[in-house]
Amino acid sequence: MPSNLNADLHCHSTISDGTLTPEELAARAKANGVELWALTDHDEISGQQRAAAAALALDLPYLSGVEISVTFLAQTIHIVGLGFDAENQALQQGLQQTRGGRSQRAMQMAEDLAKVGIASAYEGALKFAGNRDLISRTHFARFLVEGGVCRDTNEVFRKYLIAGKPGFIEHRWASLKNAVNWITQAKGVAVIAHPARYKFSANEEFALFTEFKNHGGQGVEVITGSHTPAEYLFYADMAREFGLAASRGSDFHSPDESRTELGTLPGLPDGLIPVWELLVDRIHYSHQQGSVASAAAVS
Ligand code: AMP
Ligand code: MN
Ligand code: MN
Ligand code: MN
Repeated sequence: MPSNLNADLHCHSTISDGTLTPEELAARAKANGVELWALTDHDEISGQQRAAAAALALDLPYLSGVEISVTFLAQTIHIVGLGFDAENQALQQGLQQTRGGRSQRAMQMAEDLAKVGIASAYEGALKFAGNRDLISRTHFARFLVEGGVCRDTNEVFRKYLIAGKPGFIEHRWASLKNAVNWITQAKGVAVIAHPARYKFSANEEFALFTEFKNHGGQGVEVITGSHTPAEYLFYADMAREFGLAASRGSDFHSPDESRTELGTLPGLPDGLIPVWELLVDRIHYSHQQGSVASAAAVS
């Protein structure tokens, strides 16, 4: 597998907080020249069969994917899982647990927003949620944009939905250890998502990478829509230093909102192990025998 493969191993569908269906994303990835694709909805793998079937129908190689919400050192971070067996019970139960608190959190967010004059935000956000169990801040952001409160979703996050702002509710997600274990015992590879987005000190970041590695984590996103070119180089060095494989993914959510289009990021810097090298046996190809059946199982 070449390291300059056009792999896009991070994006979101209507199953979580994206605006396109798994089928629409597969078609868009294919049209943009993606050569290996994974759908990584937040805390949810119920879109995996559809994504795999749509990708394989387009002759687009597919890896199973998920993005798990984790609380580490009092911050929310994200761990991407790739190439796992989507039928795995422990993974499914762990994800269900992780999703569990979302509705209550959303109602509390709505109560807080009501105090600053924004009424009925829970019902408003739900209208944008393709999957009500997966109601997220992104759906609130879309509701506030629709109501003319802000110009775009970034402005909503800045003014309302981040720590210290009126619609932010502290939430406890999965532990780093559990998230990594759910992925690895389901035969997948765990990847630290968009590390530059976190507000850690250098020591805290070192602790994250060290603990992640100790729990069995094997990869880090080096090339992502969330990183600047300087951050590509910084996290390429971190990957080398910690002996982690490098991943690449746009984190595409929506044609109207996302800065980075599927399949358009630069290639991995030289001298890194691409994460797909660790996953050669886990990739689904359309020419595999019984491919439709195996896509349906996404094993
Ligand atoms: P939640 O899982 O409900 O906390 O929502 C997190 C999601 O909100 C992320 O996956 C992003 O899609 C989105 N998000 C987080 N921060 C921002 C931001 N500053 N601007 C736009 N979207 C954001
Ligand atoms: Mn998201
Ligand atoms: Mn993320
Ligand atoms: Mn994401």
